[in-house]
Amino acid sequence: AARNPGQPEFLQAVTEVVESLWPFIRQNPRYAEQGLLERLVEPERVLSFRVSWFDDQGRVHVNRGYRIQHSMAIGPYKGGLRFHPSVNLSVLKFLAFEQTFKNALTTLPMGGGKGGSDFDPKGRSPAEVMRFCQAFVTELFRHVGADTDVPAGDIGVGGREVGFMAGMHKKLANTAAGVFTGKGLAYGGSLIRPEATGYGTVYFAEEMLQTRGRSMEGLRVSVSGSGNVAQYAVEKAMQHGARVLTVSDSGGTVIDEEGFTPEKLALLMQIKNEEYGRVSDYAARAGVRFEPGMRPWRVPVDVALPCATQNELDEDDARTLIANGVQCVAEGANMPSTNEAAKVFEAAGVLYAPGKASNAGGVATSGLEMSQNAMRLSWSQEEVDARLLGIMRGIHAACVRHGRRSDGSVSYITGANVAGFVKVADAMLAQGVV
Ligand code: NDP
Repeated sequence: AARNPGQPEFLQAVTEVVESLWPFIRQNPRYAEQGLLERLVEPERVLSFRVSWFDDQGRVHVNRGYRIQHSMAIGPYKGGLRFHPSVNLSVLKFLAFEQTFKNALTTLPMGGGKGGSDFDPKGRSPAEVMRFCQAFVTELFRHVGADTDVPAGDIGVGGREVGFMAGMHKKLANTAAGVFTGKGLAYGGSLIRPEATGYGTVYFAEEMLQTRGRSMEGLRVSVSGSGNVAQYAVEKAMQHGARVLTVSDSGGTVIDEEGFTPEKLALLMQIKNEEYGRVSDYAARAGVRFEPGMRPWRVPVDVALPCATQNELDEDDARTLIANGVQCVAEGANMPSTNEAAKVFEAAGVLYAPGKASNAGGVATSGLEMSQNAMRLSWSQEEVDARLLGIMRGIHAACVRHGRRSDGSVSYITGANVAGFVKVADAMLAQGVV
């Protein structure tokens, strides 16, 4: 804490990981050597830079850009870029730290990184967003590369923004190497990449439910958020026969007791992705209930899929969900549950999956995009989806293997942390103290 003042999210993520690794390291003392943990909690490189750009009225704006290159132990730095006013060093360091373990869990050769800016895309014209993206890449381009650091999207960075950044990167670097993932299909993107995080989260929830002989069919599901991850979590949960009752944004929650349909989801996607509107606009047009300022967790459900942002589900929310009978919580977002909420879920015997396990399908499919780019070919939708499903099942199996308690139950927190740690730690031990 003394070395990282004012970084609560980073300390929260490190505490969760180190607490759950401790018993494992005591049983396996070789992982206490070579300053492994001390090195793992220090990013290899932290870049911070000025991003200046003109708005449509010709006024100059200055934002701060970042790239955290956390670990290259098992492959090039890999992780998304977030554009949101809440972005700061603490948030990006927590995300880069988590990303390192998550990427290891996918079994693909990717290190961990994260970046972004405190730029707020809300209310900005497409021309302003393009100018900002181009200004951001004029500095970022010298730090990234297909074998060095491969950025992607995250909150506030979707296909449009990745396109603007990839275009500027090409111009500056004079290379067509697919340095970003999440690219459009016309210039090297992968089928199923937009869907992958949300689909993967539902695949993971199904694996967890199966350990208790259940499935999503007929279950009541709440989803938070309404962006990329949330939309495809809603779609896949519907395809699996679930009744999806909620979506949300920072303005409030949509509650639809009849459940989402493909038509309603298409309307939500049009409003969010093409009109850059709010879920309140969706509620008005779909004729469903909207609760301003409310989060979805008071709605009684069997399965909760938090897909918005960090710390959106606290201990009280967890207790409310449990009192209402929740069986399974799979995180599509990164660290949406506070550490206290996660502990409450585990203590109550809820099937609880931390984001680094259940949302790893996104980065895994980015890894598949990198493979396709390197081979200069593209796989079919069926092929990528089948690989995604296989990877999610593999992560689930690894969590069960490393997270089994003496009473036979599974801690997915311990399982994910130990499985991810072992791969990164073995790579670090083999490569010496660097
Ligand atoms: P989007 O920008 O597409 O959507 C973000 C959603 O979260 C919006 O509904 C947004 O609402 C809400 N949100 C963002 N910040 C806040 C906040 N401070 N308070 C309340 N609500 C907020 O992002 P994604 O769907 O890509 O990302 C969602 C989560 O999933 C993030 O935690 C991200 O790190 C994680 N993730 C994403 C992956 C991907 O492939 N995209 C991969 C793995 C994890 P509003 O518009 O009101 O801000």
